[in-house]
Amino acid sequence: MQITEIYKSLQGESSYSGLPCVFVRLTGCNLRCSWCDSEYTFFGGRRMSVDEVLREAERASGNCRLVEITGGEPMLQEREVVPLMELLLERGYTVLLETSGERPLAQVPRDVVKIVDVKCPHSGAAGTFRMENLDALAERDEVKFVLSDRADYEFARDFVREQGLSLKVAAVIFSPAFRKEATGARDASQCLLDPRQLAEWVLEDELPVRLGLQLHKFVWDPAEKGV
Ligand code: SF4
Repeated sequence: MQITEIYKSLQGESSYSGLPCVFVRLTGCNLRCSWCDSEYTFFGGRRMSVDEVLREAERASGNCRLVEITGGEPMLQEREVVPLMELLLERGYTVLLETSGERPLAQVPRDVVKIVDVKCPHSGAAGTFRMENLDALAERDEVKFVLSDRADYEFARDFVREQGLSLKVAAVIFSPAFRKEATGARDASQCLLDPRQLAEWVLEDELPVRLGLQLHKFVWDPAEKGV
């Protein structure tokens, strides 16, 4: 597998937000989201066997039983990442998979919690969500919309309503996009869409969704890697 980094930090972008978590970050992505904060994963990394990744994740975890497989886009390495997730589950970890929603998800082990993006109109990757992935969603899974303006919000709102998403999954998350060049200030001024504005729209429309803030960007410098 091609791996960018393996490290322990706090989970920041789901209903597991705030919990200590080991991140296994895979190299490579086939999308180019305009606000992507993980461009350093597009190239490079190091070649590791599934066993080597497993050993390093176990070493990093200590007492922590939560592991997130992320990227880049981890499902581009499906042939190796699926066995890795199975082995982590066998060892008693809760396994999260963060994915763009563009790759097929049918082969993801049933007990993995999928955190699936639906890319919005102004993400730079509009229309890439694979609609048949809706059938792969289970009750424990989560769907995330990263929003940069009102048009993104309306797209997400209509998608949630039309697909009855909040009845299908554990959480639907609306999260303001962060400025790509964000650095230094650990506050909401770095968001492309004001969280307060987003909160008001959600309440006004009575949407059963969760406001998500990228927790790690309020704890550490938003430009910092490996957190
Ligand atoms: S899918 Fe994720 S890693 Fe890929 S470009 Fe978009 S935000 Fe970046």
